[in-house]
Amino acid sequence: MVIMQICNGIDVLGGMENEPNIYLIDGEVLVDTGTGMFFADMKNDIESRYDSYKIKTIVNTHHHFDNTGASSKFRNWLKAEIMIHMNDKPYLEKGYTLAEAFNVTPRVITVDKTLKEGSVIKTKNFSFTVVHTPGHTPGSICLYEKDKRILISGDTLFESSIGRFDLPGGDRQKMFESLQKLLNYNIHYLLPGHGPPKIGGISFHIKQMIAHFGEKRFINYDFY
Ligand SMILES: [Zn+2]
Repeated sequence: MVIMQICNGIDVLGGMENEPNIYLIDGEVLVDTGTGMFFADMKNDIESRYDSYKIKTIVNTHHHFDNTGASSKFRNWLKAEIMIHMNDKPYLEKGYTLAEAFNVTPRVITVDKTLKEGSVIKTKNFSFTVVHTPGHTPGSICLYEKDKRILISGDTLFESSIGRFDLPGGDRQKMFESLQKLLNYNIHYLLPGHGPPKIGGISFHIKQMIAHFGEKRFINYDFY
């Protein structure tokens, strides 16, 4: 597993095959958990580098299997709480996570705490606010850190494209509105759910995505 520090206090655990980026904030909050295919490796790496007992929160940016597949495993191991936006909670609790697309039998994941617009996730050095950005899924969220100008954007916004909105629960119009909403935030570090981070020029990037909205070349169909 590759562990990289993105900015002071935020590490990304990932780099394996098509796994999403898994962010560890302040060694306390895990954002997304991957498919679980690499869970054993991740557990070993986390144990050797962090005080794993400090990780008490698992935030899922949306319900898709590649983001939530290992959430139960992490909860069992860490005794941490699984959180997701209220609109995506039913998908997790009914096992509708597109697991079949990964040749995995769908499994139900219970949710410990639901999130909504304005919910706050605090760690020692960060205070992230939940920004509801439906479109990729009904309960897709971004996490925004105002003082440090960081946006963890899940599958809503990537470094050079946007998330797809053609899967069950996806909504083209809502995605368009969510991108417009993101223009209200002062962002310097964009930490997406897949691919590299983008540092600087984020407002221009979002405007480009809005100007070219719906063009296939800017929609990322490689990811769920
Ligand atoms: Zn997704």
